[in-house]
Amino acid sequence: MNDADVNLPRNEDKSENPRVPPTFDREKFELVKIARLKRIESELGVSLEGIPTRYQNLHAKAILGESSLREAIKAKCYDCSAWDNVSENVGNCTVRRCPLWAYRPGGKG
Ligand code: SF4
Repeated sequence: MNDADVNLPRNEDKSENPRVPPTFDREKFELVKIARLKRIESELGVSLEGIPTRYQNLHAKAILGESSLREAIKAKCYDCSAWDNVSENVGNCTVRRCPLWAYRPGGKG
């Protein structure tokens, strides 16, 4: 499935005034995001199931090599903390032998 396979709702705002920006279509945005994630899952043969929606894009970008190294480390640390209370869990991580420990987001040294 690719982005073209999804029936996207049309933005009905046909304003004649070019100075009026089109309204943001949240539903369309979500459908495009879901279609992209489904494409990633099928192309790479990985499942993003179990990853909270708010972190799926971060994780997918890292898997595709489209993120910065900082974002990739963040995705790995969030994954390691089971996507739960990530700021506190990652910041207070005590696994000093982990190669990412010095680079973890929110690390307190
Ligand atoms: S630094 Fe801590 S939270 Fe990050 S991957 Fe290593 S063990 Fe997991």
